[in-house]
Amino acid sequence: MSCDYLALATPGVQGLHPYQPGKPLDELEREYGVTNAIKLASNENPLGPSPDVLMALKGLCSVEGLARYPDGGCFRLKTALATHLQQDPACFTIGNGSNDVLELIARAFVQPGQGILFSEHAFALYPIIGQAISAELQMAPAKNWGHDLEAMRAAITDNTRVIFIANPNNPTGTWLDSASLRAFLEAVPENIIVVVDEAYFEYVQEADYPDTSLWLGDFPNLIVTRTFSKAYALAGLRIGYSISSKQIADILNRVRQPFNADSFALLAAEVALKDQAHLQQAIALNKAGMAQFEAGFAKLGLNFIPSIGNFISVDVQTNGMALYDRMLREGVIVRPVANYGMPQHLRISIGLETENLRCLQVLENLL
Ligand SMILES: *Cc1c(COP(=O)(O)O)cnc(C)c1O
Repeated sequence: MSCDYLALATPGVQGLHPYQPGKPLDELEREYGVTNAIKLASNENPLGPSPDVLMALKGLCSVEGLARYPDGGCFRLKTALATHLQQDPACFTIGNGSNDVLELIARAFVQPGQGILFSEHAFALYPIIGQAISAELQMAPAKNWGHDLEAMRAAITDNTRVIFIANPNNPTGTWLDSASLRAFLEAVPENIIVVVDEAYFEYVQEADYPDTSLWLGDFPNLIVTRTFSKAYALAGLRIGYSISSKQIADILNRVRQPFNADSFALLAAEVALKDQAHLQQAIALNKAGMAQFEAGFAKLGLNFIPSIGNFISVDVQTNGMALYDRMLREGVIVRPVANYGMPQHLRISIGLETENLRCLQVLENLL
């Protein structure tokens, strides 16, 4: 009588395990009755967005602003990005978060059975995106928690269509320098798309960290993705983008939903981009918070993976999931990363100074 709809789902979807987001604060309150909790679990920006963004969004809160479709061509945001990054507006593809763009890339270029290559411990979305379209998942082993570009190169097969590289990587915070990444790109055949996911780009201070958007002229198979979710603090609005050749942007725009970015997100991103002073504040706060955690972990005798993002993964020398659960009860939400092959680590997002302190104190009490 009743049909097994799972059997009707595509093979990829049948084997799919959905992405596990960080626990929202109100869920913690609902499930555990814990109030006054802090969330350091999703690499959100504790400073929040530019006040100019809040002002602009209020202006859009009108019948007209809500009832009209957004600008499907994203003209104003693309123009603002083009000016800011000195690129042609036609090189941009706007997404509902950069995750949306990552998925568009896979849908546009990878047929069922074809290969998606990524590193061990890399961002969880790459295998999820590949699995959803029944791709062959090709995982190269990591080295010192980071991407091992030699291993990735060795893992390329005739079947590989798209390579995902997170720089820096989440959840490890590890990164690739300019010379290594460039040498890798030079070695990859032009018919394989290489996506460099730079979700934390704005936070990075290291001198030899590459701005790969400057290499687009050299590598026609390169796609760079960035987001307004992290340093620009607009995670709730869902807006990100890719920069690529015009031809690739044209291809991605064929599979893109015309209104994947809503009017509020488009306006917020455009305004956020203009307030570079606010962005600098967020970067400074992150830098101080990172130093605070590094010193705190050293004091507790805990090893951590040096990170250039707005988060840090620490080796808690015990079952990370169990510790995560005990921390929840103390009102501190962090991120267990056992699903990344890191069962003894916790990933902690850099918060406000008081939040970082509270997290370190809870760790000290529980360990
Ligand atoms: C957070 C993150 C993203 C961005 O997600 P959005 O969809 O833009 O919010 C992309 N890649 C990595 C590695 C991330 O950590």
